[in-house]
Amino acid sequence: MKVRFDQITKYFGQAAAVSGAEFTIDDGEFFTLLGPSGCGKTTLLRIIAGFYQQDQGDLYFGSKLMNIVPTHQRNIGMVFQNYAIFPHMSVFDNVAYGLKARNINKTQIAKRVMEALEMVELQHLRDRSPSDMSGGQQQRIALARAVVIEPELLLMDEPLSNLDAKLRIKMRADIRALQKKLNITTIYVTHDQEEALAVSDRIAVMSRGVIQQIGSPRDIYLKPANQTVASFIGTSNLLEGIVKEHDPSTGLAVVQLGNQLLHMKLVRAYVGKALLSIRPERIRLFDNMRSDLAHKLIGIVRQSTFLGGKMHYVVESEQGHLLEVEQQMSVLIEPFEENQRLVVDLQLEHAVLFDGKGEEVLN
Ligand code: ATP
Repeated sequence: MKVRFDQITKYFGQAAAVSGAEFTIDDGEFFTLLGPSGCGKTTLLRIIAGFYQQDQGDLYFGSKLMNIVPTHQRNIGMVFQNYAIFPHMSVFDNVAYGLKARNINKTQIAKRVMEALEMVELQHLRDRSPSDMSGGQQQRIALARAVVIEPELLLMDEPLSNLDAKLRIKMRADIRALQKKLNITTIYVTHDQEEALAVSDRIAVMSRGVIQQIGSPRDIYLKPANQTVASFIGTSNLLEGIVKEHDPSTGLAVVQLGNQLLHMKLVRAYVGKALLSIRPERIRLFDNMRSDLAHKLIGIVRQSTFLGGKMHYVVESEQGHLLEVEQQMSVLIEPFEENQRLVVDLQLEHAVLFDGKGEEVLN
């Protein structure tokens, strides 16, 4: 089922928790609302569930206007951070709860509950009490309980936050697999960018109540729409510079970074202050003075950290920038040492240039 937000705004007092949300979630999509604490993701999810009503704008499920439809008529399955399962009921009765409330007959209930428990691999624990089960198992019960009612929409609010790191990775893969199998439109809230990148078809990045960018995990990572997204998703080196010249006929611009001049192609006419955003894995380091590199700086290694499969460096350029750099470990290259002088190669074809305020992409 499609979900459409048409200019939705929600205030708490004077402050807008969600401001002008305008987008559509496709049928069968795994869609994630991602952003730091307090950015408005839970508020938006609660508007979809019908727990809150927006102050402005319209919410549609398919072509149906939902603004005043109460929660129990929205056919939604929900999973929360704290599981919200009933400790005094058996696993079976927890999962059966929503079906009993819908007056479904006993044989049907037994069949559907067992199917749902099989999906989350808990059928053998049907008669157990959830109170002595692990966090991961309790979250699976919550998941089975949400999908057993065959909802048209699955809402999940930080469902994995209470689990340890290893179990989170396993559970997120399981949730994704189950969602694909059931082909159910799913809206997932998290502040964990790695989790969002791993599970989503598309992600909406939110900040201070405003949707900053919507796109596939790849798009969001590779082409952040502004400085806020670039800083929140992954690690970005943000270097202040100036676009000195721009030739509108070729698109070529000269960008000054300290005393270094770089050449980049821009998609719009611009001169003035700029911010160059480049990922740590898009900076290469060489210990010989190579002359063949178009965009090289000179730098000194200030910090060198072994991370198993890769090395992490902090390199100070002659221009005074502190750059985070990541390099895959290689048997051919010895790791660089602190205080070593290096050539730093910026792979500008993988960099994003923003205007001076970090609000718009120039290249
Ligand atoms: P978190 O991850 O911490 O839950 P969030 O991104 O989900 O954060 P929301 O819970 O949607 O953010 O909150 C958005 C803003 O609205 C915050 O500034 C919050 O303080 C405010 N807010 C949320 N619920 C209420 C409420 N019931 N009354 C007043 N203010 C609220």
